[in-house]
Amino acid sequence: MAADVSTLFEFDNSFARELADLSVEWQPTPVREPVLLAFNETLASELGIDPAAMQSPEGLAVLAGNAVPAGAAPIAMAYAGHQFGGYSPRLGDGRALLLGEVTDVSGARRDIHLKGSGRTPFARGGDGRAAVGPMLREYLMGEAMHALGIPTTRALAVVHTGEYVAREGMLPGAVLTRVAASHIRVGTFEYAARLGNPALLRRLADHAISRHHPSAAEAEQPYVAFLESVVEAQASLVARWMLVGFIHGVMNTDNMTISGETIDYGPCAFVDRFDPATVYSSIDQGGRYAYGNQPRIAQWNLTRLAETLLPLIDDGSDGGSDGGTDRAVATATGVLTSFPDRFRAHWLDGMRAKLGLVSVGDDDQALFDDLLDLLHRDRLDYTGFFRSAATALRTDVTQLRSMVAAGPDLADWTERWQVRLDAESRDAHAVAAAMDRANPRFIPRNHLVEEALAAATDGDVGPFHELLDVVTHPVAERPEWSRFADPAPDSFAHGYQTFCGT
Ligand code: AMP
Ligand code: MG
Repeated sequence: MAADVSTLFEFDNSFARELADLSVEWQPTPVREPVLLAFNETLASELGIDPAAMQSPEGLAVLAGNAVPAGAAPIAMAYAGHQFGGYSPRLGDGRALLLGEVTDVSGARRDIHLKGSGRTPFARGGDGRAAVGPMLREYLMGEAMHALGIPTTRALAVVHTGEYVAREGMLPGAVLTRVAASHIRVGTFEYAARLGNPALLRRLADHAISRHHPSAAEAEQPYVAFLESVVEAQASLVARWMLVGFIHGVMNTDNMTISGETIDYGPCAFVDRFDPATVYSSIDQGGRYAYGNQPRIAQWNLTRLAETLLPLIDDGSDGGSDGGTDRAVATATGVLTSFPDRFRAHWLDGMRAKLGLVSVGDDDQALFDDLLDLLHRDRLDYTGFFRSAATALRTDVTQLRSMVAAGPDLADWTERWQVRLDAESRDAHAVAAAMDRANPRFIPRNHLVEEALAAATDGDVGPFHELLDVVTHPVAERPEWSRFADPAPDSFAHGYQTFCGT
């Protein structure tokens, strides 16, 4: 009996309906022979979708773009973006489509989006397709981030297309189904702002407010409150990235969401031996998107968002010769300059949790900065350090230095940390247990990711599924998984590069 997929999704299409000027109706291009490589049962259940029906041949056809389910109104979304600092007025979904929006079991609206589903009017020179490796990478990274408690878009499925795509050689093709709070980006606002249609821009802002930052609608100045909400969401997000050692790799404004979810897992990677200058992306020659630059870049991107909102923030309707521009700039600047403090507050909170501290200390910033300096100087494994620190705390904290093979200065630092812990008078085992909950043991380590994706590209998805299991249980104590906690061998770490996979 054929599964009935007509009722799989109950789609709404509010973006397509309310913001038709920001998209093009389009259909996916069918693929030859879809085979399911990965399916996210947990996420399907969260979405209220029947996992069995979704994995039936009829469901698979939807995930491959070979069938468009009833109620979907597929669109390629238009957006612009600053890429590596330079403005591109027309990017858009070159190889992706928004099928529609569903309401998940918690009542939240979520986008269902296909990536790699064929060329669209925004494809420019691209083939509209994606390869298995990068799509499984997006799946794996998104699920790892989600398990770490970090807001992110997620993958519902990756389907092998049975076709090849030409990249650095011929690679197996794939379609990813992405689930997101929305696909509204800073670049969506940049695109709308340059159409010179203030009513459209206002509609976009109102749509984004009601969807992501509804409290802004109640504020005296809704568009200022909206900007503030996005600034806050991004400050929190990027602080969380920094705390787990995540490097996004391509923080262009088209890859920054208004919702505050991480999006676009292209050349991303986790830092291992700590160095703020770490950059893995092959296309980031200047190190613009290096680990340590991410907060600054986030603020830069938010400034691009703020620029688009100026006419809404102050339309000059209450007089004044400059049409309100100066006033709007001053207001927006006030919001933007709050970014570093907001970021720091989130980061300090997170660092305290990582180090088992529950109270706020006057010198916390210096304590944490000095630790990072030491990790950098001794090139220590960032993720491993915090787990070792908890382990040392259970026995003798002075052992930490030899456990992580650090230089002599770590002894001084450990003493300062101990003084801080002593002042809180908590049981060392309770502190260590709290640290183990706050610090991942398992992250998607670069060498493991590459190993798993290479195997999948060669037709064996076993290692991918094993690694997915590990990284979605980041704080588990599983002795049989110890190899997944080990840092990359030096031979691997040196010169590691990630690629966009486009
Ligand atoms: P990304 O690097 O994935 O953020 O993509 C940047 C832009 O390039 C977006 O407009 C994408 O839709 C577009 N793009 C990337 N790869 C392809 C492709 N293979 N075919 C068509 N468009 C693409
Ligand atoms: Mg992108």
